[in-house]
Amino acid sequence: MQDIDAIGTLIGQPQTVLITTHQNPDADAMGSSLGLAGYLRKKGHHVTVVTPTDYGQNLHWLSGNEGVIDFNEKSRVQVTQLVADADVIFCLDFSALDRIRDLAPLVRQARARKVMIDHHLEPESFADLQLWDTSAAATAQLIFQLITALGDKELIDVPIAECLYAGLMTDTGSFRHGNTTGDVHRTAAELLDIGIDVSSIHRRIFDNVSLDKFRLLGYVLNEKLKVLPQYKFAYIMLTDSELKRYRSKTGDTEGMVNYALAVEGVVMAAILIDRVDEIRLSFRSVGDFSVRELASTHFNGGGHRNAAGGRSKLSLAETERRLLDVLPLYQQQLAEVV
Ligand code: 5GP
Ligand code: MN
Repeated sequence: MQDIDAIGTLIGQPQTVLITTHQNPDADAMGSSLGLAGYLRKKGHHVTVVTPTDYGQNLHWLSGNEGVIDFNEKSRVQVTQLVADADVIFCLDFSALDRIRDLAPLVRQARARKVMIDHHLEPESFADLQLWDTSAAATAQLIFQLITALGDKELIDVPIAECLYAGLMTDTGSFRHGNTTGDVHRTAAELLDIGIDVSSIHRRIFDNVSLDKFRLLGYVLNEKLKVLPQYKFAYIMLTDSELKRYRSKTGDTEGMVNYALAVEGVVMAAILIDRVDEIRLSFRSVGDFSVRELASTHFNGGGHRNAAGGRSKLSLAETERRLLDVLPLYQQQLAEVV
């Protein structure tokens, strides 16, 4: 569903705007949010970006990052006021309110008009307007499409283009996943023409790894990676104490699941992380095998066909048991993936 015209009307006059995105925001979440924020500020709106949790240091260079408010106990009063004051709330890169944790009740009750812009499957209908397209590779691509459709492409300057490129580049796995369409490359080309330095963006995002994160990765690859060839499945489990031992920070486990997927013969991978209040699961797959279906059926989650996540309130060991118990249900399907 595409409410582009109605969104254009809604932001036709300067408004007080709040932008939010999913918990543990990734580069698409932050890039699309800060790219949209940069654009709306140029149009005269008063814009604040609020995140439900903090996020990786490698995203802190994005333009507008300094004004982002991380919602936590310290900022609760301020954020509650911001939500109450907002005329419009943009919800970016998620389509179900449980993805914004404790912000959900505030956003649900807000008087503001809510606009959801997202590319995940199975949206919850909480928004008044939406730009929702599961064929889009990234929410950043939808923001580019929106700005272009509203006739404002010339307002996309280098800082905004960098934000959008960061989202597009990361959600396509540097333009290599199955979601990398001609449109993705055309959008990237237009962003390049604005004057961004792609190799610098790549470096700032990927070649910006703390030694602690690399040491944790070394430990994981040596000792924590398990492969179950009968299911073409590989997985990693991390306890809270292991994360502490390696001084793991937010974002340090991001992308780790891809190492499991890269093992020869593996077509599905998972990482199970003990986040104390819950176990977070990340799934990746190749080809037609849908980890979104597995995550939503068994682990309270969702996402895309080849990249999904979920959570469990069981212990880490019980969550592993659960996962190992459901694998036989998918054995035939997994065997068919090449
Ligand atoms: P990641 O494994 O990188 O956290 O997430 C992979 C994809 O699945 C992302 O697009 C992410 O937004 C989505 N995802 C992760 N966890 C959840 C979840 O609990 N629910 C839903 N609906 N989507 C999720
Ligand atoms: Mn995304």
